[in-house]
Amino acid sequence: MAVDATQAYDDNNIFAKILRGEIPNKTVYEDEYALAFHDINPQAPHHVLVIPKGKYVSWDDFSATASDAEIAGFTRAVGHVAREAGWVVPGYRLLVNIGQDGHQEVPHLHVHIFAGKPLGPMLVRG
Ligand code: AMP
Repeated sequence: MAVDATQAYDDNNIFAKILRGEIPNKTVYEDEYALAFHDINPQAPHHVLVIPKGKYVSWDDFSATASDAEIAGFTRAVGHVAREAGWVVPGYRLLVNIGQDGHQEVPHLHVHIFAGKPLGPMLVRG
């Protein structure tokens, strides 16, 4: 079910459980601000999710209410993961789904990183 990007944070969402260690994940990177792990249903040869450690429902919530340190730390973590994986050349794609029209399914902010093949046009028209 799609997320309302303005809803209250749900402590029982699946990424909250991953952050608490209640559900396993394939971690690729972790620091004070972010956890990066493999998407369970990859949509490209490489598909990693990066989530902030803090309780933020959506990009809207995060960009409005996170501290400057959290925003900087999270942004740097996303770049670090892609750089360390060797994806800067030939390139990669970041995607953040927000709310119902954005098709956000998990109510904890996550940045998708896709890589490993030419990714084609940004959106399918229609
Ligand atoms: P979104 O539609 O942007 O909310 O994307 C949610 C993503 O979370 C999807 O790509 C799912 O495959 C992924 N996902 C859901 N549950 C898990 C999980 N337990 N571990 C890793 N990825 C997951």
